[in-house]
Amino acid sequence: MSILDKAVVASIPLIPKRLVRFFADPYIAGERLSDAVDTVKLLNRQGIMATVDVLGESVTRPEETSAPFKRYLQVIKAIDEEKLDANISIKPTQMGLGLDPEFCFENYRKIISQLEKYDNFVRVDMEDSPYTTLTLDLHDKLKSTYAKVGVVIQAYMRRSMRDLEERLILAKANIRLCKGIYVEPQEIAYKDYGVVRRNYVRLLEKALKAGMYVGIATHDEMLIWEAYRIIEELQLSPEQYEFQMLLGVTEKLRTQIVKDGHRMRVYVPFGKDWYAYSTRRLKENPQVAGYVFKDIFNLNQS
Ligand SMILES: Cc1cc2nc3c(=O)[nH]c(=O)nc-3n(C[C@H](O)[C@H](O)[C@H](O)COP(=O)(O)OP(=O)(O)OC[C@H]3O[C@@H](n4cnc5c(N)ncnc54)[C@H](O)[C@@H]3O)c2cc1C
Repeated sequence: MSILDKAVVASIPLIPKRLVRFFADPYIAGERLSDAVDTVKLLNRQGIMATVDVLGESVTRPEETSAPFKRYLQVIKAIDEEKLDANISIKPTQMGLGLDPEFCFENYRKIISQLEKYDNFVRVDMEDSPYTTLTLDLHDKLKSTYAKVGVVIQAYMRRSMRDLEERLILAKANIRLCKGIYVEPQEIAYKDYGVVRRNYVRLLEKALKAGMYVGIATHDEMLIWEAYRIIEELQLSPEQYEFQMLLGVTEKLRTQIVKDGHRMRVYVPFGKDWYAYSTRRLKENPQVAGYVFKDIFNLNQS
């Protein structure tokens, strides 16, 4: 952790909420559903697809799943009514995975029964390691009832190649491949930046060679270069994969990828839980705090 990152993280609790909101603004569509709809419309006009996320995670009581559950039903309806090119991403602990996997499955099932009407897709986000196996199990169970379900695989996890080879390829899963945002112990996660990158490339190559649909989720130009190389070598058509980025991050690189003829999807988080989301993300990954700081003071090149 650089001194700059450490300083930013240490100062997070001291930052007034209004200021955090100001910092977080480029990365969050807003608090209302209409904010998310407007953001998606803007992206769609630029030829970019979206995945909408209702902010919130780690509920501690079953009743707390009810508000985000209803919100997701409204999102699904809005996507259809407003003719948006978008799907949804849901965090399992927001739907109660930490309380009871069966209860969580039922919540997803009910959301999927709405999604089915519009033939749309849901991504099961991946959270920290206590939930990895439970999330893959949840994905498999959902996939056996509805085809348009996908999951996420994190390149920093030592187990990911095994998960890919032993279950995801066999299930012909639709995956999002990312580095991983949570802080995990060295016994289960690679800590070296270069190793995580190399593992990302290995996983991507394996998944694409196996004919899987991959959401290539990264802002790392080196990985994007590697993805271009693999796509060219395998002579894939743009319908066989997509690039994915977070709202407000590396927008010039995002535009370049679209110009190069690749499909791009942007993760659009919205909702009232923005404070917890913003501060937790910053604390979990101090590097992100550094990017935000650099962005604010225009120190980032991309
Ligand atoms: C669409 C999408 C969905 C994701 N879903 C999950 C998930 O389900 N589970 C999970 O664990 N992780 C998820 N992530 C986060 C991911 O795991 C990484 O933590 C994140 O993408 C940063 O890694 P990177 O590959 O972009 O590389 P980095 O090396 O972290 O970043 C490369 C460059 O991108 C820029 N950058 C990256 N992040 C930011 C930021 N927040 N603000 C400003 N600039 C930034 C910087 O310029 C940096 O130099 C998701 C990421 C994306 C894009």
